[in-house]
Amino acid sequence: MQQWDVIVIGAGAAGLFSAIEAAKRGRKTLVLDNGKRIGRKILMSGGGRCNFTNIYASPANYLSQNPHFCKSALSRYTQWDFIALVQQYGIAYHEKTLGQLFCDDSAKDIVDMLQQECDKAGVSIALQQDIQNVSFADGLYTVTTPQLNRSCQSLVVACGGLSLPNLGATAYGFQLAEQFGLNVLPVRAALVPLTWQPADKAVFEEISGVSLPVTAQANDVVFPEDMLFTHRGLSGPAILQISSFWQPGDELIINLSPQQDLNQFLLEQQQKHPDQELKTILSRLLPKRLVEKLLELNVFQNQAIKALHGKAIQRLADSLTHYVFKPNGTEGYRTAEVTLGGVDTNELSSKTMEAKKQPGLYFVGEVVDVTGWLGGYNFQWAWASGWVAGQYC
Ligand SMILES: Cc1cc2nc3c(=O)[nH]c(=O)nc-3n(C[C@H](O)[C@H](O)[C@H](O)COP(=O)(O)OP(=O)(O)OC[C@H]3O[C@@H](n4cnc5c(N)ncnc54)[C@H](O)[C@@H]3O)c2cc1C
Repeated sequence: MQQWDVIVIGAGAAGLFSAIEAAKRGRKTLVLDNGKRIGRKILMSGGGRCNFTNIYASPANYLSQNPHFCKSALSRYTQWDFIALVQQYGIAYHEKTLGQLFCDDSAKDIVDMLQQECDKAGVSIALQQDIQNVSFADGLYTVTTPQLNRSCQSLVVACGGLSLPNLGATAYGFQLAEQFGLNVLPVRAALVPLTWQPADKAVFEEISGVSLPVTAQANDVVFPEDMLFTHRGLSGPAILQISSFWQPGDELIINLSPQQDLNQFLLEQQQKHPDQELKTILSRLLPKRLVEKLLELNVFQNQAIKALHGKAIQRLADSLTHYVFKPNGTEGYRTAEVTLGGVDTNELSSKTMEAKKQPGLYFVGEVVDVTGWLGGYNFQWAWASGWVAGQYC
């Protein structure tokens, strides 16, 4: 039986970060992963450029049953700490929008940096390890794979969530928590496209590819960003963001003109171009293909704008700024960026990420019930929670 001080399950962002920190403290540390390479999600994140953090990251950007839990880790390992590490490795990056930092070149730069940090600290990594069992006796954990039994004093569970099963995602982290008597909150796909009801699909799939700035609202939460029509439903950053707050059966309220007061715009156009048809006028503000669909759906009648009195203009403006969709569901874990829910934070110490009722067992990253918004916040949670556990495990 091989003996280690620390075994980390999962060679993703959180697992690698906790392993690096543990090894820096002189702990003999091994990372096990079921895949062929480390950091697979990092490699495909941010369209291949990894949105590795957000300069505005704060606890307000996270969903959790206990919104206070993430504060400790996020304040002890901040976005500025990770940015300093990226700079130390000379990785070129840029702010894309809303504080989101992306690699200029490739997400591989981040994975290479983590590999080098592992090498420097002396972390061992064993890949293609299918973990079959974990047991605990006499203060030691035994991790069993078909190849080998290994024991350790501290076990860090960094198995991630359920999104992208074809990239190795499993429910093993949640199972381990339950095995040791920890509560696991219900999970669901988040940061995920929403799908059409059949009737909407018939209408809107023809305009797939159309994208426009909107605000998307569900359950009193509003996100201003772009929205994209697809063959299956609605996507784009505004929709991915709101999907974390949307529940089946809820309405989605879209403001199709978030940047301009639509009533004012229509009144001005009426003054300037009284003989122009509404279709022409609305096409100045919205994608033409969308305007044609709205006409087909009788959201407005195509007539000269001079025919509309003030109340009719206000009604039209209201209908376009409160356009209601009732999505059928989400695209699920196949395309979701993250999993909402997971290991109940009440079971963990926010200072160390250790299970309160199971000494030596730590949970970090996405497996925990802390989920960030779109925009680099999920990696920041992975770095911060991994870093914290690495100081104690
Ligand atoms: C397409 C996509 C793009 C994304 N882009 C961004 C982005 O740009 N910015 C951002 O902040 N977030 C992004 N995210 C979210 C981010 O990738 C995750 O929140 C983050 O990777 C979670 O890190 P983690 O270490 O907790 O888990 P993971 O990265 O999921 O790592 C868990 C690892 O554990 C392994 N594993 C699972 N079960 C077992 C088992 N039984 N035995 C052994 N190994 C196991 C998995 O194979 C995986 O390698 C994106 C997600 C996706 C899917």
